[in-house]
Amino acid sequence: MRRKLVVGNWKMNGSIAKNKVLLEAVIVGVRDLHHGDFVVCVPYPYLAQAQALAQGTNVAWGAQNLSSNEDGALTGAVSPSMLMDYGCSHVIVGHSERRLLSHETDDTAAARFHAAINAGLTPIFCMGETLEERESDWTEYVVGRQLDSILRRFGPESVSKAVLAYEPLWAVGTDNPATPAQAQEVHTFIRKRIARCDKKIAKNVRILYGGSLNPSNAKALFDMPDIDGGLVGRCSLDASAFVGICKAT
Ligand code: PEP
Repeated sequence: MRRKLVVGNWKMNGSIAKNKVLLEAVIVGVRDLHHGDFVVCVPYPYLAQAQALAQGTNVAWGAQNLSSNEDGALTGAVSPSMLMDYGCSHVIVGHSERRLLSHETDDTAAARFHAAINAGLTPIFCMGETLEERESDWTEYVVGRQLDSILRRFGPESVSKAVLAYEPLWAVGTDNPATPAQAQEVHTFIRKRIARCDKKIAKNVRILYGGSLNPSNAKALFDMPDIDGGLVGRCSLDASAFVGICKAT
């Protein structure tokens, strides 16, 4: 049985004061939910705050990116072991905003994925197609290529130490979520592709859906057999919305 997982991606939002109110409400809201796992991925400067507030609760915390290097002359970069110093369990890798806005490629995302695993962090590896790619019937080609960038380089064992996230770009930040059937179709494709290498790992890996999740649509998506939870952007900034999604687990 795969446990459901809900991950909040706060992106570049928050302040010490706002985070305290938000995270304390999330912690109280999910305290009695025993059927899922919950994570918030916060901006780097607030990792210590997340650690102080969430330690000892059933909410874990993580970051939204990491360097593939351990140290060196890399101004502005944050290493895997720095995230470990702040108790992170998870880190988002290859989010579409980084692929689009920060020149992230399959190669650089794969290197970060590997560095996270080597440090003992669980990467949440994001994949997804643009609207144009979907309309050209390229979804499986694009998602397959992104998946292969880790599967072929590092093998299925690496996937067993990760969480995967299908985030169609046309659904992220748009109020136009994938239907449960659309998401399920791609999740099945991902699981089958991993199964070609290792059936057991394919069966056990958690594949999250992300893109305009909210408390009203989460249950129908999470009820699909290959959808193991969600990666949540905007609704993770509103405690009652985020907790509402967590309740759908
Ligand atoms: C995201 O950015 O990962 C995301 C899923 O955003 P939203 O929930 O706002 O669509």
